[in-house]
Amino acid sequence: MKYDAIIIGSGPNGLAAGIRLAQEGLSVKIFEKEDTIGGGTRTLELTQPGFHHDICSAIHPLAKASPFLKSLPLKDYGLEWIQPEVPVAHPLDDQPSGALFRSFDKTVSYLQEEDKSNYAHSFAPFLEKWDELLTDILAPFSLIPNHPLKMAQFGLQALRSANGFTKRFKSTQTRALFAGLAAHGIMPFDATATAAIGLVLGITAHTVGWPYPKGGSHAITKAMAGYFESLGGEIETGVEITSVQELPDTKTILFNNTPQQILNIAGEKLPQSYAKKLQRYEYGQGVFKLDFALSEPIPWKDELCQKAGTVHVGGTFEEIATSEEQTANGKHADKPYVLVAQQSLGDESRAPDNKHTGWAYCHVPNGSTEDMTEPIISQIERFAPGFRDCIIEGHAMHTQDMQAYNPNYIGGDINGGRADITQLFTRPAGLFDPYHIPKTNMYIASSSTPPGGGVHGMCGYHAAESVLGRL
Ligand SMILES: Cc1cc2nc3c(=O)[nH]c(=O)nc-3n(C[C@H](O)[C@H](O)[C@H](O)COP(=O)(O)OP(=O)(O)OC[C@H]3O[C@@H](n4cnc5c(N)ncnc54)[C@H](O)[C@@H]3O)c2cc1C
Repeated sequence: MKYDAIIIGSGPNGLAAGIRLAQEGLSVKIFEKEDTIGGGTRTLELTQPGFHHDICSAIHPLAKASPFLKSLPLKDYGLEWIQPEVPVAHPLDDQPSGALFRSFDKTVSYLQEEDKSNYAHSFAPFLEKWDELLTDILAPFSLIPNHPLKMAQFGLQALRSANGFTKRFKSTQTRALFAGLAAHGIMPFDATATAAIGLVLGITAHTVGWPYPKGGSHAITKAMAGYFESLGGEIETGVEITSVQELPDTKTILFNNTPQQILNIAGEKLPQSYAKKLQRYEYGQGVFKLDFALSEPIPWKDELCQKAGTVHVGGTFEEIATSEEQTANGKHADKPYVLVAQQSLGDESRAPDNKHTGWAYCHVPNGSTEDMTEPIISQIERFAPGFRDCIIEGHAMHTQDMQAYNPNYIGGDINGGRADITQLFTRPAGLFDPYHIPKTNMYIASSSTPPGGGVHGMCGYHAAESVLGRL
């Protein structure tokens, strides 16, 4: 055999799988369709020369906290994290913004009186030994947790719906703050386990922060690729694999792709019952993305938002819940929940001549081609009057542009499949080992496996462990 393993796709999970296998001395080759590696972590001058925009991912609490990524010498390969003064802020009409600070105590003392102890009781139990707990949270169901009691305590809270979990908070401010966190899951707030992502993201704000890489999110996968190659791994870009027949001789194949693509590339080689399960796999809502070249920072009314790396725009809990429900029901929210990142505030390499970049997206129905530019700008303008006048140039991508850019984003779904309770833990086929395709030498190493979307590389890491176990 020419290779021990071939990986199709060089996203963070493809690279993580490659690194883990190469660490064990296996010969590994990665094929990437685009001319550059990185999947959802590329950075490009999308608007004007000198403005470096993160096309997909921007803010990386999960990459910073990832048990596998943090074990790698990525700093030696150029990865430098920038921590914003405020991880996340949440502006509101006519009252102070919600905010999470790195310091847990500072956050509790900043919150409204009626929610101080509610917040402390909800988050404090998980702060200590968070690293170890997160390793259990980001593992597939098939692995016995290292900390079963803590995991059970976390599960009791995390399995609640965002609606149910938020009932403990009384103030508009804290309720809105939690809505902004939970909405990262891109699910309606009455769905089971929608509190989980809110809890994880809230806790990471206090434990590792919500940093972004100097120079752009591409720095994460560039560093991973550099380390992978230092271990003897090979990468070939500009090669789209349309069938497994095209691959050189290899003992194993790992797909850094989602079920629909795997059916196209390897359909005939899959066991029929498995192929049927992949056909039934469901994709989630899509995103509409906007990037801005700005003449100055976004002129938020509230000073706290001017210091934040991430700003959750959408107003109260009820407003955000409505917008998420509308999208889940196939509608376009007229007042969407908008995620805004402002990396150039702490990274002057992102824009020339003291100018700035702005990164924003909102959720839309899967496959939507609706132009959400105006609703997004209006929502930002609502909390930052004068924003419109700061825009030098904008760049928009609807869901189909997203999928054309990266075929893993089916219908604009950035999480590799709907993250509901039926698909979250055992995706994509409900098997004990979610990474191995039964009766074949093929594996899945993408966000369509546990623990799902985000830049953390843990899907790739666990897929590689599955390969190592079998080889
Ligand atoms: C707008 C947007 C914002 C996001 N924001 C964040 C964020 O702030 N923080 C965060 O953690 N996550 C964020 N994400 C999600 C994150 O980018 C993804 O969850 C993550 O990139 C998934 O990694 P992956 O390795 O599974 O797949 P991907 O990163 O999608 O990589 C798959 C790779 O496979 C390649 N490929 C596909 N088909 C083939 C083929 N046939 N042949 C060869 N190569 C192929 C693709 O070109 C791509 O390079 C965001 C995503 C988007 C789109």
